[in-house]
Amino acid sequence: MQALVFSDLHADRGATQKIAAKLRVADYGFCLGDLSQWGQGLEATVDALDVGTQLYVLPGNHETEKEIEQVCRERPNLHPLHGKHISLGGGNFVGFGGGRERGIGRFLLSNPEAEQILAQFRGLTNLILLTHTPPFETAVDLTGGNKHIGSLPLRMFIQEEQPHVIYSGHVHERRGTTDNLGASKLVSVGAEGILIDL
Ligand SMILES: [Zn+2]
Repeated sequence: MQALVFSDLHADRGATQKIAAKLRVADYGFCLGDLSQWGQGLEATVDALDVGTQLYVLPGNHETEKEIEQVCRERPNLHPLHGKHISLGGGNFVGFGGGRERGIGRFLLSNPEAEQILAQFRGLTNLILLTHTPPFETAVDLTGGNKHIGSLPLRMFIQEEQPHVIYSGHVHERRGTTDNLGASKLVSVGAEGILIDL
């Protein structure tokens, strides 16, 4: 079984059509947020992604958790993943969406809020994290302007719980970049997506 992991379509029609074609032939899909541009174009993007494959969706910092829940409620193939986990192929896939404290956007988590969400997943084995924002001070949260814009609570969770892999989006210029944090592998995913084995 294979899952398609992608992020940051930002209501780009061409990129959405390309990813929808890949999604159609995948077993599952994970969308890591920022489907819209500040909330605009969300409906059209999720309609294009509703291709019959079960798709788990996070809010980024461009759309809210409520907006994602609403579009999923109306489309049975789409499922909200923020603050939830699902077991697939022996892995526990945890969803953590939104932007970081003092970030820019329409859905931002304070550090205590982020800690509270992540705390539910402590002790889970075979952990794979699907996040919009990457962990702080890594190769995958570094902007072109040399600023680290990742989440500190997420970094601390990873150091303590050591998930196998963390797939993140958000930092467009880091698409395709990988790094390690302790025993955990970090992978930055973009709008073109990557296929992972389940
Ligand atoms: Zn973002």
